[in-house]
Parts: sequence; structure tokens; C-alpha cells
Amino acid sequence: MGPNGHIVVPDNVIIPFIEGDGIGPDVWRASKMVLDAAVAHVYGGKRKIEWLEILAGEKAFNETGEWLPAKSLDIAREYLVSIKGPLTTPVGGGIRSLNVALRQELDLYVCLRPVKWYKGVPSPVVAPENTNMVIFRENTEDIYTGIEFAMGTPEAEKLLHFLTDELGVKNKIRFPETTAFGIKPVSKEGSERLIRAAIKYALGHNLPSVTIVHKGNIMKYTEGAFKMWGYALAEREFGDKVYTWGQWDNARKTQGEDIANARMKRAEAQGKLIIKDVIADNFLQQLLLSPKDYSVVATLNLNGDYISDAAAASVGGIGIAPGANINYLTGHAVFEATHGTAPRFANTNTMNPSSLLLSGVMMLEYMGWQEAADCIEEALAITIMRKRVTIDFYNLMHDATLLKTSEFAEEIVKNIK
Ligand code: NAD
Repeated sequence: MGPNGHIVVPDNVIIPFIEGDGIGPDVWRASKMVLDAAVAHVYGGKRKIEWLEILAGEKAFNETGEWLPAKSLDIAREYLVSIKGPLTTPVGGGIRSLNVALRQELDLYVCLRPVKWYKGVPSPVVAPENTNMVIFRENTEDIYTGIEFAMGTPEAEKLLHFLTDELGVKNKIRFPETTAFGIKPVSKEGSERLIRAAIKYALGHNLPSVTIVHKGNIMKYTEGAFKMWGYALAEREFGDKVYTWGQWDNARKTQGEDIANARMKRAEAQGKLIIKDVIADNFLQQLLLSPKDYSVVATLNLNGDYISDAAAASVGGIGIAPGANINYLTGHAVFEATHGTAPRFANTNTMNPSSLLLSGVMMLEYMGWQEAADCIEEALAITIMRKRVTIDFYNLMHDATLLKTSEFAEEIVKNIK
């Protein structure tokens, strides 16, 4: 990690990878073929990736008796950037989701999900090209932390008494005898680091807006505070580079709506980054009704989970949507396929490798190897446009040619220019 908050990447870089379970090995093999071909094509041997396998999931369990060996975590920690296929979530008490464990161990506080349409990808909406956004989902807090107490346990009863006797909660728990509890921690620091990362990303990529999505009308001290902390941070840390709806609202109250609107227009004309907010349920409508209005989205963990899949579906990309989990302060980043292991299709060489491949493209961008990232994206777009695709797209397209996972990768390599 460099002193200025950017990772320093050597020309011969070692990247740890987890091939994943189920369809993981098929899609990983295909992705690796394309990543290597693009790097060789663009840099002609001057830059190279050396892949270092680390064990996790079923493969790790079969070989070592552990689902996530400490050594794998140590390597991911040491090398900063890694990539992974999908992992089986072990069923049974006491074993955490491996994905969640990785995120927590490395404090990967941003779940980054770009959502955009590739020409030719079958989509359920009329104008999928209008969607082009990057979602920053908070990855370490919220109801996801797993602080839950099951109905009828002594802990649930204790909590009930604490709430009613000590905190004065009255008439809010409708069926006290049969209630389970979940706790939703949301901190100022956690919210600020997520929103800061989203704003920096938007400024760095010259994007027009950051939208804070929240349910603050109902959950005032968690989601509502997320919004307020976000506006305050934007104004405090980014000053002249941004204009917030908070500032617009102040101007409206003190100087009237016309002046407030004129200021907003001027800020837009000056190319300032607009920081706005939308309530989560409305945002799910807006995703379909006016996706053009949204560029970078910053949101809490649970909202982000729903929003990223809904947004991916609207561009037909649920099978090809990429993702990354990043800590921008330490540099740690794990790039990953967003789909699961699809165990029924393991070793069939039929599934679409694009989700993992595009995560690899995000990884190249993060490393600063933009030229290689661009040439893969272009080659993938050409391949899809020519309708030479895997079964998932083939089933939804007219006159397409059906390719195996490996053939699809070979086709992309042929299209690398
Ligand atoms: P899944 O994503 O594995 O599969 C659901 C369906 O989506 C599949 O039957 C298939 O029709 C389709 N699909 C998935 N990936 C595809 C691809 N690359 N190309 C074409 N079609 C594809 O979801 P699931 O069945 O709910 O979960 C199976 C396992 O995966 C579980 O153990 C779950 O915990 C795990 N999982 C892991 C991750 C991860 O590692 N990030 C994410 C989700 C689920």
C-alpha cells in the first residue's frame, strides 16, 4: 500500500486466487485464460500475473479438514489483492458463510457492484442502456452483523426485559412472548468511510452524482443518521467539489425555492458532484423508471443487497454481474463472482464465466492496468454482440450460437484487439 492511498503494483505481480466450488473451476479456468491473454497482448511480456492458488471452501475442507484455513487468510492479507470463484456455504451450526468470514477478517468495508448493460445481453426492461451505475454497499454493519436472538431463548427474554424495564420501550413489541430479536448497528465511522469511498470514486471517474439510499424515514437513528452523516461529510471534506441536497434544502428554507434551484443548476453547470438521497423503496422504483438519474449509489448493507441484485437483473446481468469487496484504507480487495456455485452444473463446462471475468476486469482497473481491463471488456462485448454465448444467454436470444464455457473464453481471446 503506497503512502498516498494507492496500491503499488509491481510489473510481475503475484495474485492469490480461490477457484471456488461447483462451477467455480470451470469459470475460473475460462476467466484466467482471458485475463492472461489480455495482459500478454497489451503489455507484451512487460507485465505479467503469476497466479498463486489459495484454498477455501469444499476443496480446502477435503484437503485440510478446514473450510477456510488460516494460511489462506494470511496469504490474502499479505498480497492485498485476490480473486475468487463462488464458495459453498457449509450447512450446519457454528460455521459462518465463507464470504462473510473473508469480508470480516479483512475488514472489506465496501461491496462494490458496477451495473451496466452490454449490447445484446437479453434484458427484461425496454431500455437497459439507460442503466449505468456503481453501487457502494456497506459491508460490515447493519442487521447483517448477525446479532440475533431466537424466540423463546433466555437471551431473548433478557433483552425483552432490558428494553421494557430499563429503556422504557412501551407498546412497541406486539407479541412479547413469541418475539425474536435482531440488532442493527450503524456507526458514524462505518457510514463515513463508505460514503467517503463513494464520493472519491465519483470524483475520480468524473461522474455526475452520488445518491445516498436509505430508509431514514422509518429508522431515524440508523438509516436517517447515515444520510445526515453523509451530507455533513461531503460538505466538510469535499467542500467546493460537491453540492448537496442538504445545501439546497437550507437555501430553500432561507432564501426560497427559486434561488435554491438556481444554485443547484449552477453547481451542475460547474460540473460539481451532486450529492442527493432517495428513500430505499422509492429507489427500487426509480431503478426501473428513471435509471439515467443515478450514477454512484451509497447505501447500507441490507438495502445494498436488494438493490444490487435488482439493478443487475434490469440489465439482464444477474449471471454476469461482477463484484468486489474492498478496504480502500489498507488496500485489501477480494474480487469475486456474484453468483453461487450452481452445484447441479459443476464440471459441465456450460456456465457463463462473465461474472468472474468482469470481476477480474475490475481487479485490473484497481491495479491500474486499465488498458488490459478495457481490451477484455471490449472483446467480451463483441462476443456477446455476435451472439456466440453460453447456455444462459443462448436460451434468451434468437439465432445465437451455443458455446461451452471454455469455447466462450476462446472466442473472447480471439476478439482481443
Ligand atoms: P447459484 O447462483 O449457485 O445458482 C442459481 C442458478 O443461477 C443456477 O441454478 C443457474 O441456473 C444460475 N447460474 C448461476 N451461476 C451461473 C453462471 N455462471 N452461468 C449461468 N447460470 C448461472 O445460487 P444458489 O443455488 O442459491 O446457491 C448455490 C450455492 O452457492 C450455495 O451453497 C450458496 O451458499 C452458494 N453461494 C455462494 C456465493 C458466493 O460464493 N459469492 C453467492 C451465492 C450463493
